[in-house]
Amino acid sequence: MRATDLDPTFISHAPGYWADEDTEKWSDYKWQLRNRVNTLSDLESRINLTDVERAGVLLAGNKLAMSITPHFFNLVDRDDPNCPIRRQIIPRIEEGWTAPEELADPCGEDSHMPVPGLVHRYPDRVLFLVTDRCASYCRYCTRSRVVSGVGEQHLEMNWEAAFKYLEQHTEVRDVLLSGGDPLLLSDTILDRLLTRLRSIPHIQFVRIGSRIPIFLPQRITPELCQMLRKHHPLFISIHTNHPRELTSEVRDGLGRLADAGIPMGNQSVLLRGINDSVEVQKALVHKLLMCRVRPYYLYQCDLITGSTHLRTSVAEGVEIIEGLRGHTTGYAIPQYVIDGPGGGGKIPINPNYMIDSVPGKVTLRNYEGNLFEYPDPTPVPDGVMEKLHHRALHGCS
Ligand code: SF4
Repeated sequence: MRATDLDPTFISHAPGYWADEDTEKWSDYKWQLRNRVNTLSDLESRINLTDVERAGVLLAGNKLAMSITPHFFNLVDRDDPNCPIRRQIIPRIEEGWTAPEELADPCGEDSHMPVPGLVHRYPDRVLFLVTDRCASYCRYCTRSRVVSGVGEQHLEMNWEAAFKYLEQHTEVRDVLLSGGDPLLLSDTILDRLLTRLRSIPHIQFVRIGSRIPIFLPQRITPELCQMLRKHHPLFISIHTNHPRELTSEVRDGLGRLADAGIPMGNQSVLLRGINDSVEVQKALVHKLLMCRVRPYYLYQCDLITGSTHLRTSVAEGVEIIEGLRGHTTGYAIPQYVIDGPGGGGKIPINPNYMIDSVPGKVTLRNYEGNLFEYPDPTPVPDGVMEKLHHRALHGCS
């Protein structure tokens, strides 16, 4: 970690490793996509790789692709293999080992798809996977089995069948678009998709899950925001894990989305050596609020194959929430959750603040460890109401 990571200021890391490029190209998201770092030689020409990483990159070719936008790559430390950004996007050999508890589909999504690409697990809402591509690939991705296009499994999608299913299922009021990253679709395709969903009367609101504002803030153009604002109520869940990711470009892109009236929440994943401390989490959530983004969920890392080097214990997650609750603004505190392995949905995990419960009262602990009793309501004794009634009417007891 760098000392500046805990600093609440927003800085730009450009041009960084691309000192020779002109600013106009740098701000063009298509240039960013065309110039992603996705080969071992490109990687080695910019940073000093360890053997563990070099072997990981070679292995990634048939598991989850490596691809990093220049914008995000600039956050990587050239010499430190423990850099919290580097560990998120540069493969390591540990990914090759599958622990007995790990699963290819840790959230049991494939078994809840009534039509290809549409996950219907909760009664009133669905997850609609609309692409298998992202701007960069996270080494802990829950859907690494289907994103990036290099693994054994491919994401099957059938948008027409999904629209038909949604039209028939009037209980669905909330659609979450995810993937891959939906904001990688062109403005025209995204506009058509949102218009089609909006034409279904019982769909009350749409959410988009995206890491593009972090990996590729240049994609958050005024034109994109202008188009998105036509489809309210529309929410966006961004995904950022470390305060260094919140650069001045990211802050400005998030500002454009907020100005378009889009409420935003952040979903972080708790990752070993990346954001598994109270001080890093606190710096992250404070910067998020400054960007008008509400910290929403802190996920315990799913049991993805090859993720042991990135996962923490649940006790460590509880300790982080304990270190935030009461110690900073309530709005800044995400809900810590575990996605029940195999398809249990999100289960909230909290420190235990209610330390005893007996008939008539509970005993509570506050953030400083002080104890308080909170009693149940006392039943009104017989005759009291009659007396009060009499006093109200006659003015005396
Ligand atoms: S951006 Fe999301 S979908 Fe894409 S690799 Fe990262 S976690 Fe997976």
